[in-house]
Formats: sequence, structure tokens, C-alpha cells
Amino acid sequence: MAERAAKQLELNKSELPNSITEVIATLSRAGFDAYIVGGGVRDTLLGLKPKDFDAVTDAKPHEIKDVFGKRCRIIGRRFQLAHVYSGRELIEVATFRGPPINDSNTNQDGMILRDNVWGDIQQDFARRDFSINALYYQPLKGVVHDFCGALNDIDNKIIRLLGDAPVRIEEDPVRLLRALRFKAKLGFEFDDELAAQFHRGNWALLEQISPHRLYDETQKMFTGGYLVPLLPLLFESGAIDSLIIYPPSEPNALVQQVAINTDKRINAGKSINPAFFYAALLWENYLHQLEKAKKRNMPFAEAQLHAAGKVIDRQRIKTAIPKFAEQFIRDIWLLQPKLAAPRSKQIEQLAEHPRFRAGFDFLLLREQCGDAEHPLSESTNGMGDWWQTYQTLSEREQQQAIEDFD
Ligand code: ATP
Ligand code: MG
Repeated sequence: MAERAAKQLELNKSELPNSITEVIATLSRAGFDAYIVGGGVRDTLLGLKPKDFDAVTDAKPHEIKDVFGKRCRIIGRRFQLAHVYSGRELIEVATFRGPPINDSNTNQDGMILRDNVWGDIQQDFARRDFSINALYYQPLKGVVHDFCGALNDIDNKIIRLLGDAPVRIEEDPVRLLRALRFKAKLGFEFDDELAAQFHRGNWALLEQISPHRLYDETQKMFTGGYLVPLLPLLFESGAIDSLIIYPPSEPNALVQQVAINTDKRINAGKSINPAFFYAALLWENYLHQLEKAKKRNMPFAEAQLHAAGKVIDRQRIKTAIPKFAEQFIRDIWLLQPKLAAPRSKQIEQLAEHPRFRAGFDFLLLREQCGDAEHPLSESTNGMGDWWQTYQTLSEREQQQAIEDFD
């Protein structure tokens, strides 16, 4: 085991948020070992701003609860951990894990079903996914524990599974998706053993993962701010087939455009709804279903609802899109023809529709990437541009624009 001085690694306690140092300090004062682990250490070492800081300790969940009292809640079943509030920040505090004790923790394929066997720090490190995610940083003592050459892998920009690669993927095939995500985020390369795991047999294992967990994973993928580099990896690796119904063979222009826009918004600190990207990914499929419904002479409004329902029902089986997100996707799609060909009387009302902003953004992005020329798509009539201008006008000018519209 290598123990390194944090100072040598240019890690400085004062650069950490107060919340994580407070949680580590409180656990230490109560006599427990506590470390920052995972993305918080990895990203800080790389000079990136970590999304959050996770803590790990030898205290059991009930002991963590005793230490923090009301500011602590125990959550999770498959993977039990403590949520601790420090000021307004939420810190996830996990207890060191050991190897699964008996077969009741895994299924016949060796997949981990429950991961609540406590262990020590050495056992805990061995259960983590990649070496770069398995560094333990004690900021008060100023030390970093590296059990597996993780610092070396960070220097060489390598993503490496800990342990026997095929076994670690069988245990939890979601690690394949995580690997792609970290590759896109960090610009690292896979080592040979990890690279060899991206085959059809392993993708098939994802069918056993709950659609809820897969939805959560897509949410992380779509909102990390690195969707543009991630997109080709999802398509080239075959991951996309495990996540999306009837994906095209490569990302179409709209999907690319929405990815660019999503990253831009996130990196500018603006909020995004991950369902927006779903709306783009599933748009072609929706158009296809709409065409089929229209051929059956369904009235247009009914055909739209029918097509949207069909697409979302099928997608839900792969990734459990929550209800509010489903409604969001449906609203975006149904607003498209309304925004592209409004009657003048409807303009004000449309601009006040609770989903106007999302629908308009989608229309504009379709216009910008030439989606309106797609054989199944309907023309946007240049209305993306029109609505953009409309929103910059004063109330009087808006009235004038409406009068001039027809
Ligand atoms: P980010 O938060 O930037 O997405 P992260 O590395 O912090 O990256 P989390 O999902 O927050 O990722 O998980 C925290 C840590 O928990 C990881 O760094 C890793 O050590 C461990 N971990 C998470 N998921 C798994 C998994 N499926 N298998 C093994 N270890 C995991
Ligand atoms: Mg994290």
C-alpha cells in the first residue's frame, strides 16, 4: 500500500468545501476513521471541480446516525448508506464494504443483488469499480491511500477495472456504462482488459438491471456536461441499444445539436431537464409512429397522442422514465406543429404555455440542424426564428407582430 502526503499531490484542505471537512472531522472526533473517496478525490487531483464529495467510514450506518442525529438519514436497500446534512449541503456517507459473504447476495450469474456486508478499508477498495475511483483522502491528516496504483493510472490517463475484469462486469454490468461516462468526462483511455469487455454478451447482461437504475444512469450521462464526447462512445460501443428503443445507427443531426446545446447550458451553470435529450433521441421514432397513425386515417390530434404513447410505453421498459418526464417529452412533441403553424389568435396563449420554453428550444434546434428537411418531419416554417424575435419584443410590439402575422 502506498501512503502519500496530500501536500505532495497538491491537495489542499482549504480548497475543500466546509461541508465535507466538517463531516470527516465530526466522525474522526467520535473515534471513527473517515475519508473522502471516489470522484471527489479523482476530480480534485485532476484539477476539475467535483460534482460532489462522498465520504466513507468504518462507522456502521446506525453509528453514523448516532453521531449526526437529526441531520442524518439512512437510505437505500441494495446499497445502504447515510445521508448527512452539513449546512445546506448533503454528503453521502458509506460504510466500508467487504466481499459478499454468501450466495444470497448474488444471483446465479454472479450479479450482486445486495451490497451491505461491512468490511475494512482494504476490502472496501477492492469492491470499487475503477482504480481511479479508489483513492482515499484524509484531509485532516493530509494523507492519501493508494492501494492499487491509482495515482499512476491518473498520471497515465488510464481507466482500469480493479480485479478480474470479466468477473467485475458480471457482478455489475452497469460498470460498462460508467466506464464510457468516465472516458468521455476525463478523456482517458481504457486499459486492454477493460476494452475487451465491450462485447455483445456483456451488453446482454444489462437486460437484468432494473429500468430504474438504468434511467438514473442515463440521467447522469445526459447531465454531466460531456454529452458531446460521450455520444459517439454510446453508439460505437453498442451501449445505445441497451438504453434506447430503435436507435438509429448513428446520432442524427438533431441529437448532435441537442447534445451540443445541453453541454453548453450545463457548463454555463444553467439547469437542464434530462428528458429534453430523451425527446431528441426518440423524436425519429415518434415521427415514424405518427406517420403510421396518420396512414390509418386517425385525426391528427389523436394520432399525435397515440404515437407519443406508443414510443414512451416502449421506452419505459428499457429505462423507467418518471411520469413528470414523460409528460415533458409528450408536451415538447405535441407543441411542435402548434409552434410551427400557429393561428394568430393562439400566439399569446402558446407563449404562456408552461412548456413553451422547452417546446420553443426544441423547435429552434430542429430548425438549426435542418431536421425540418427530414422526410417524416414537418417544416418549422422558419418559426423558430420568429418566436425568438417575438420574445424580445415589448408588449406593444408583440401585439403588432400578432396583427401582422396572418
Ligand atoms: P461522479 O460523481 O463524477 O459521477 P463518482 O466516481 O463520484 O463520479 P459515484 O457514482 O458518485 O461516482 O460513486 C462514488 C464512488 O462509489 C465511485 O467513485 C466508486 O468508487 C464507487 N462506485 C459507484 N458505483 C459503483 C459500482 N457500480 N461498482 C463499484 N463501485 C462503485
Ligand atoms: Mg460522486
